[in-house]
Amino acid sequence: MFKDRSMLKERKRTKEERFKMNWNDYPNFSKEEFDCKHSGKNEMKPDFMAMLQDLRSKYGKPMRITSGYRHESHPIEAKKSRPGAHATGQAADIGVDRGDAYEVLKLAFGIGFTGVGIQQKGGGRFIHLDNIEPDTKDFLRPTVWSY
Ligand SMILES: [Zn+2]
Repeated sequence: MFKDRSMLKERKRTKEERFKMNWNDYPNFSKEEFDCKHSGKNEMKPDFMAMLQDLRSKYGKPMRITSGYRHESHPIEAKKSRPGAHATGQAADIGVDRGDAYEVLKLAFGIGFTGVGIQQKGGGRFIHLDNIEPDTKDFLRPTVWSY
């Protein structure tokens, strides 16, 4: 038994931070699509982008990113009690509806995204996907929610 699970998590996070982001690894996406619309910053994580590229390859059609990285100063994050998944660089919202939303969800569960948010009412329909690890502080994962 490990005496201190938080120490293990700390070590894992450091390893991820050393893993450098290379946008050429994701042929169907460009960095600009994921830039924070408030700060211009971009701290997307390679493991999330690899899963999203996998989804995009299987989906086989263009995917519109309506929100990618959001710095904690972004109005949506700033109004929360603490920054959410988009501030970790492990989340994106995909502008899809109806049959396309069905297809994206079906693939997303198979690929192993752990946070799935569904906005399929009225205008501005999208699917939120993230890969926050289970047992991450302040996050319930795996989970599904609607807006
Ligand atoms: Zn989102």
